[in-house]
Amino acid sequence: GKGLAVFTSGGDSQGMNAAVRAVVRMAIYLGCKVFFIKEGYQGMVDGGDNIEEANWSSVSSIIHKGGTVIGSARCMDFKERVGRLKAACNLVKRGITNLVVIGGDGSLTGANLFRQEWSSLLDELLQTSQINKAEREKYKQLNIVGMVGSIDNDFCGTDMTIGTDSALHRIMDAIDAIVSTAYSHQRTFIMEVMGRHCGYLALVTALTSEADYVFIPEMPPPRDWPTKLCTKLEQERTAGQRLNIIIVSEGAIDRDGQPITAEMVKQVVVDNLKQDTRITVLGHVQRGGAPSAFDRVLGCRMGAEAVMALMEATPETEACVVSLDGNQAVRLPLMECVEKTKAVAKAMADKEWELAVQLRGRS
Ligand code: ATP
Repeated sequence: GKGLAVFTSGGDSQGMNAAVRAVVRMAIYLGCKVFFIKEGYQGMVDGGDNIEEANWSSVSSIIHKGGTVIGSARCMDFKERVGRLKAACNLVKRGITNLVVIGGDGSLTGANLFRQEWSSLLDELLQTSQINKAEREKYKQLNIVGMVGSIDNDFCGTDMTIGTDSALHRIMDAIDAIVSTAYSHQRTFIMEVMGRHCGYLALVTALTSEADYVFIPEMPPPRDWPTKLCTKLEQERTAGQRLNIIIVSEGAIDRDGQPITAEMVKQVVVDNLKQDTRITVLGHVQRGGAPSAFDRVLGCRMGAEAVMALMEATPETEACVVSLDGNQAVRLPLMECVEKTKAVAKAMADKEWELAVQLRGRS
């Protein structure tokens, strides 16, 4: 059978285990020899016990677990050609020519580069006698399929990344808990949620918690936001509302591109309105805990589709990313999606907010 390996890279997210499980089982079902690569690219570079054959039962009882049971890491070695050369050697020695990468845009970029270099890496391994001619010929094609695991929903091309829905559940639970205490004391609560370059979590959280104000990176507030914010908060209190909720995305910025932090917002509220104001930074709570039903199913569907895409790949097939479009699993050109995702970040850096929102599209 064909050699296929799955690994998780970059930040972890809920639902990655469901994806790993689906990849392993679908690949076994289709007759592949399947491997886990532990600790992301670092495990691929280091080889040894990090690359382990998987069987049907090795992915039992993981679907309900948060994080990724096969480990994830950031890896400097893989950014250098020498690191990728070691990785290529480790794969050839195990007969792996099909890779499923579950990670963010950085991880997918690395995978694409690896695939483009594959031929020249094998040539170098042959010249230095680390592999033989038969191996050079047999493993000449490397197929790659990506899927996006991230709670931020920060990838262009997919409606939802694996982990986002679970993070939203976690955030909503936390806000509901806080609201009940805030209600008793007429407080103003400022909640900082994750999303370095993407306001999706903050925006949806604001909608689902009846927040009074939200700060997101794609659409900085008007320059006089302190006045607007205070007017709004005062209006609500005068109208009889007992508490105020403000959501701040961790990547929130102003019209000059400078960060707007929860602390800054608090200062504005305290200085102008003298309201009893508290900050809650949810942090890694958002990434932890059990994946939601949606993320488990998403992981299952994406994982199965990824293996099918690999099995159908020809030398002409571009590396693809498996995405959710409406309610369909689709395959999109990997680099096009990565480029678009990078273009959103650039538009924000260039203070072209409308372009950023437009490029972000549905996700
Ligand atoms: P997250 O969105 O959670 O941060 P990510 O996949 O974008 O996930 P990165 O830290 O950017 O996270 O990338 C993860 C790993 O992928 C890096 O540590 C590195 O090993 C590899 N990688 C990223 N970019 C490249 C690149 N341009 N070339 C080679 N490898 C890369």
